[in-house]
Amino acid sequence: MSLALYDTWSRTVRPFVPLQPGHVGLYCCGPTVYDHAHIGNLRTYVFEDVLRRALELNGYTVRHVVNITDVGHLVSDADEGEDKMEKGSRRTGESAWDIAQRYTAAFQADWRALNLREPTAWPRATDHIPEQLAFIDELVRKGFTYRTADGIYFDTTRQHDYGHLARLDRAGLRAGTRVAMGEKRDVSDFALWKFSPPGSRRQMEWDSPWGRGFPGWHIECSAMSAKLLGPWFDIHCGGEDHVAVHHSNEIAQTQACHGTRLANFWMHGHFLTLDDRKMAKSGGDFLRLQTLVDQGIEPMAYRLLCLSAHYRSSLRYTDEAIRAAQSALDRLRKAFASWPRGGVAHDGFVARFNAEVNQDLNLPRALAVLWELVRSDLPPAVRRATVVHFDAVLGLQLSEWVAPAHEMPAEVAALLAQRQAARDAKDWALADRLRDALKALGWQVDDGPTGQRLSPSSGAPATPRKDSTGADDKVTKLSDSVWAP
Ligand code: AMP
Ligand code: ZN
Repeated sequence: MSLALYDTWSRTVRPFVPLQPGHVGLYCCGPTVYDHAHIGNLRTYVFEDVLRRALELNGYTVRHVVNITDVGHLVSDADEGEDKMEKGSRRTGESAWDIAQRYTAAFQADWRALNLREPTAWPRATDHIPEQLAFIDELVRKGFTYRTADGIYFDTTRQHDYGHLARLDRAGLRAGTRVAMGEKRDVSDFALWKFSPPGSRRQMEWDSPWGRGFPGWHIECSAMSAKLLGPWFDIHCGGEDHVAVHHSNEIAQTQACHGTRLANFWMHGHFLTLDDRKMAKSGGDFLRLQTLVDQGIEPMAYRLLCLSAHYRSSLRYTDEAIRAAQSALDRLRKAFASWPRGGVAHDGFVARFNAEVNQDLNLPRALAVLWELVRSDLPPAVRRATVVHFDAVLGLQLSEWVAPAHEMPAEVAALLAQRQAARDAKDWALADRLRDALKALGWQVDDGPTGQRLSPSSGAPATPRKDSTGADDKVTKLSDSVWAP
């Protein structure tokens, strides 16, 4: 069964056909780096990571772009209020540039902790000012803009289908408008370029043909996606809150400039809620990934929690739910680690799992297939090989998991520590002997990018032996039952 995805533009699940055979251009709106990401933001990135993995499962090469918004995102989506970066700077006393750098690094650390696949590019808005100026210039030349005292605005009344993505009721919006519009002519019009306040200088500002200032938030995504993926690419993603304003505006600008609606598929992740409220960065009080880690919850458990709900339904975060995800993860890891290598994946289970993934990323159903496999009486080596296949999409790093030291026999932990010391001292001969000693106990150790990885080895353990490594006859093979789920 081939991949079908829900497209917000057409409001249908439709077969995914790439614009160029074998290749997919994927653009995901990235973070505004004035504060840490909260776990709600991260839910959207987990959804997008699963999408990317599903595309790769189907054999596509994905060019994946995630932007970093480091200027221009104002406190209000109606182009009012302070720039979030300058506000963050006032809060912490650092420069807006330092804040951007610090929170970009923090965001990318969360990204890696959740095992999200590295994008092909991480373009920053502030590195693409000339591209944004050229884009705005084109819109000015084509007559889609007007000037007010505080900036250059996009005239949405020039487009009869403005807001189609969100099925906006434009007449209703106008009638119901209560906010002051300033010199804006229509409630939906939005800033392309904002002038620096008269008589003062911003930390982030640039010269432009219209006056010194900074770009509006929406133009960066239209300009950077067109530059890196072309003005007509396969899939554009973001959270559901982007449909009505940010993505509608990206489409309006691109339609005016390039004549396309930017992406063939528009996909949106629904919100993570907390006690039935939306979790918002600007709310001040929010949960970070680190908050969870401080409570003994691993990032992988949060990832598993995200997979347990379909991306198009909201997910309510509770303590019970995250603790259940952590214990399910623990059980899964232990079961997996107890299974020997050397098996071949089970075709029937693989086909069922792939079919669920391909049906608009139905991960809750795919997880049900996983649990059914775990509980099945298929040979353990077959279960292991099948789960390895599943984990290419789930991304739970099951093959990389190492039992915490307190869960492995003391002798094994000691040998592993000695081997780490030998590796640190570049004593490769000793490290090899210690690997043999662990193997004799029924444990295989591999050296991965993140260090030593331990798993039960497939064959029967060799006879324990005495040698210079300190392993001795007292060491026995760990019984499988310790690992049973
Ligand atoms: P921001 O850093 O605020 O620009 O948001 C980054 C991403 O997180 C965007 O795709 C938002 O749509 C998304 N997002 C914001 N809040 C939530 C939430 N509570 N649940 C899921 N996604 C969210
Ligand atoms: Zn965007």
